[in-house]
Amino acid sequence: MGSKPRILLHTCCAPCLIFPSKKLKSAGFEVIGFFYNPNIYPQDEYRRRKDTLLCYAAQINVEMRSESTENDAVFFDQAVAGSDNKPARCSACWYLRLYRSAQYAKKNAIGIFTSTLLVSPYQDIEIVRAMGEKAAKELEIAFYDADFRSGYHDCVKISKQENLYRQKYCGCRRSIEESKEKKAK
Ligand code: SF4
Repeated sequence: MGSKPRILLHTCCAPCLIFPSKKLKSAGFEVIGFFYNPNIYPQDEYRRRKDTLLCYAAQINVEMRSESTENDAVFFDQAVAGSDNKPARCSACWYLRLYRSAQYAKKNAIGIFTSTLLVSPYQDIEIVRAMGEKAAKELEIAFYDADFRSGYHDCVKISKQENLYRQKYCGCRRSIEESKEKKAK
């Protein structure tokens, strides 16, 4: 186990962990999950997603780390300030989360990082990739660029079988309204 290269997998939630962690393990990595998602609003939802993730990661033998502080929600608000709408708001959100992941990886001598955001057809993969590469370049660390979207249906199927909590909106306060608006159309 100790001889495998370690990869830090920024992880947004339990369902999205399923396929990327399997792929990375089969590519020969020791996968270390990292929960840093200050975008999730409100606190009850944050706790629910995080608790579900920690419980499921333990079941599938993925070590999880997290580095949350009381100021995380403030950091998020600052990061997206002035970017009210998509795609600017989402770009700022992805960059914050990926930059912090890259920072954590570097601090802990993990030479490469990636994200479960790359499995979701609801995120703009090209911007997520660009934000990952940007953070990697700034911190002089490697970004594992992948397209995990072929495994999204597996994530949905297995999360239903395992009865995992599946969120109804992306995460931030604004995305709650956007989700309701979309449903109303
Ligand atoms: S919609 Fe999702 S990706 Fe966009 S800012 Fe909100 S939480 Fe972040």
